[in-house]
Amino acid sequence: MSEIHGFAAHAAGAHLLPYKYDPGDLGPNEVEVKISHCGVCHSDVHLIDNDWGLSKFPFIPGHEIVGAVIAVGSEVRDRTVGERVGIGWQADSCGICEWCRQGDEHLCAKSQPTCVGRNGGYADRIRVNAKFAIPVPTVLESENVAPLLCGGITVYSPLRNHGVRPSSRVGVIGIGGLGHIGLQFAKAFGAEVTAFSTSKDKEAEAKSLGAHHFVNTRDTGALKKVAGSFDFLLSTVSADQDWQGYVNALRPKGTFCVVGVPPSPIQIQAFSLIGGQRGISGSPTGSPRDLHEMLDVAARHGVKAITERFAMAKANDAVAKVKKNQVRYRAVLTN
Ligand code: NAP
Ligand code: ZN
Repeated sequence: MSEIHGFAAHAAGAHLLPYKYDPGDLGPNEVEVKISHCGVCHSDVHLIDNDWGLSKFPFIPGHEIVGAVIAVGSEVRDRTVGERVGIGWQADSCGICEWCRQGDEHLCAKSQPTCVGRNGGYADRIRVNAKFAIPVPTVLESENVAPLLCGGITVYSPLRNHGVRPSSRVGVIGIGGLGHIGLQFAKAFGAEVTAFSTSKDKEAEAKSLGAHHFVNTRDTGALKKVAGSFDFLLSTVSADQDWQGYVNALRPKGTFCVVGVPPSPIQIQAFSLIGGQRGISGSPTGSPRDLHEMLDVAARHGVKAITERFAMAKANDAVAKVKKNQVRYRAVLTN
């Protein structure tokens, strides 16, 4: 097969430049996908800037991919040429460990992220293990579903795993790419939903997406006013916050869950956890099984990303806009 063309970061924080690589022979368990859309997740920005010390340059970012299967490996039985699929954070796993065996491939120690040590979706094509190419329900538009492949599953899994239900009082912190999908899923789970945001102008849209209440966290004393109010708080923010204020906003037995990646360690007073039997947790994306379920729920409950479209060649413009928190609410690159 011919070379794959994309846009790669060659050094931390550098502009993306045209880049091509030879994918070699198609592996027996792989599929090759012709990419139509790729979301710009804030994790791509962290990787481009090498915030996590994981990036191996040059690399093509992108892990919210939708496209059509154009080739299948000799062992692939469940994907067909022409089928529309989505690919998220994970491209492969060992397939034999305890976690892979029980359908938690995202917890595999040998998990291979789509654009760490591999080339991702800001490109014309990509290859992944067929297990991680998930069929997309026909009612979902490619542009609106691409961000669900990482942003969507990252908010869906913790809501589901923490048993959010109609009696739950849920807060979503940071109404960006992840957060605006989190409001929709929290509503679909039947919860009473509060949006926490630094952007006053997001209030009306947050409410239309499922928030019953809106807290402007720039208001003085905003968190004190909601102390002891929430069963589940989900932070999607990539900046340091008043974490203690959020833990204090939990009801007894409540959980504070981080999915956003702030730069500094999170410090919490032990007694604020002990006293109300509160918990703090984290959550990664999700397994192929979770992705299938999340897409099905999105299709049946009308959950979709609100997007701003950029041509693939304008990937640098999209990344710059994400850094300025100016995207409403997810940039999607198109071929
Ligand atoms: P995003 O689109 O940039 O949204 C983040 C939101 O956080 C912003 O829209 C903003 O919301 C809020 N925010 C930004 N800067 C802030 C600041 N200085 N103080 C307070 N709030 C601020 O990013 P994203 O794509 O949703 O990703 C968010 C985080 O999740 C990133 O760290 C990303 O790496 C991480 N992530 C983790 C996983 C996982 O598996 N756990 C998966 C995907 C992404 P308001 O305007 O409403 O304040
Ligand atoms: Zn992501």
